[in-house]
Amino acid sequence: MTEYTEEEYLLLSGLQHFSFCRRQWALIHIEQQWQENFLTIDGEIKHEHAHDDHFAAKRGDLVTVRGMAVASRTLGLSGQCDVVEFRAEEQGISLARYGGTYVPYPVEYKRGKPKQDDCDRLQLCAQALCLEEMLACEISEGALYYLETRRREPVQFDDALRQAVCSMAKEMHAYYQRRHTPKVKTGTFCRQCSLQEICLPVLCKRSSAGEYIRKRLEEAP
Ligand code: SF4
Repeated sequence: MTEYTEEEYLLLSGLQHFSFCRRQWALIHIEQQWQENFLTIDGEIKHEHAHDDHFAAKRGDLVTVRGMAVASRTLGLSGQCDVVEFRAEEQGISLARYGGTYVPYPVEYKRGKPKQDDCDRLQLCAQALCLEEMLACEISEGALYYLETRRREPVQFDDALRQAVCSMAKEMHAYYQRRHTPKVKTGTFCRQCSLQEICLPVLCKRSSAGEYIRKRLEEAP
């Protein structure tokens, strides 16, 4: 089984971009010059950095940890969980600080409402896989909380979702190792992409993104 070093870890939150469009992910995560645009897309990195790394509290049978850093050597991903609830259960793992045994339950907060695609579920499942590896436990479920609907949507971490996370992480590393930004078939989904103004002209002219941005900078007053 491949194991990645910490230096090779990719951002776990990139899974949702990768699942939306391989090219968008590569522009953001491989071609670092797009970082500014990335921040305007969805504020994910800001969002991640806004976590309170040290918040943990116990209320009754529930320990709540916010901003927990997670990583997986086998996936080669690292990131942070918005919230991990540790629920008191007999078959759980022991938490020395709080006494008793607990099962982790990751909860990710999202703006908007539930999406048709699997982007958010993939990200949450990757968090669960990291937690399983770090804590040597099994996690069968987590939840996505959507701010628009103010509802928790439970997500089952079934084999198909786990497999999708593993193969996407592998594909991301393959692109990253080659520093390759793939060309993809454009579609109506491009309308939702904040990188379309920089991406589409490049795709159509078949020039490199680097070449395009150099031209844009030369044209700038
Ligand atoms: S414009 Fe379309 S093809 Fe280009 S990165 Fe965005 S979603 Fe992908």
